[in-house]
Amino acid sequence: MDVTTHAAVGAFAALGLAKGKVGMTEISAAVFLGSMAPDIDAIFYLVDPRFYFEQHRTLTHTLGGVTLLSVVTAGLITVSSKRRSLFVLVLYAFVGGLIHLALDALPSYPLRPLAPLSSHDYALGLFWWRDPFFKGTALIGIALILILPRLLARPLLLVGLVVMAGRVAVAFFLHR
Ligand SMILES: [Zn+2]
Repeated sequence: MDVTTHAAVGAFAALGLAKGKVGMTEISAAVFLGSMAPDIDAIFYLVDPRFYFEQHRTLTHTLGGVTLLSVVTAGLITVSSKRRSLFVLVLYAFVGGLIHLALDALPSYPLRPLAPLSSHDYALGLFWWRDPFFKGTALIGIALILILPRLLARPLLLVGLVVMAGRVAVAFFLHR
């Protein structure tokens, strides 16, 4: 998916998971940055656009790559603040990374999260690389989480994720 969809859904998950918790800033930063981190391979574009198109969605879009990026992301946040343990922040960043992989499985570009153990392509090919539904749902969710009491943050996140999963299910059955 495109960078703005990743940013919106990442921010929605970050707020939903972090609101009201001790170290809210660190947790939300870990989830959000973790959800954006796999597309760090865009820097290859600055080196050589052709190399970028060959390598995009490869190393950084595997479970191994996401784990490594989560450790780096959590490490950088822990250096600037000690309010949550490194391990906890790695887990939150990893959740962000999984959200990124889930969104990137929706278009038809190859996605091999289990590489190098398996080269199975998990891309579902259900959507174009940008679908306004996911971004729109996330933005509404962000607004509601910011406005409503913190007790509702997790239920709202859950509802938003179920709505997005419903959209995927509808697209899946329409494509059959
Ligand atoms: Zn990506």
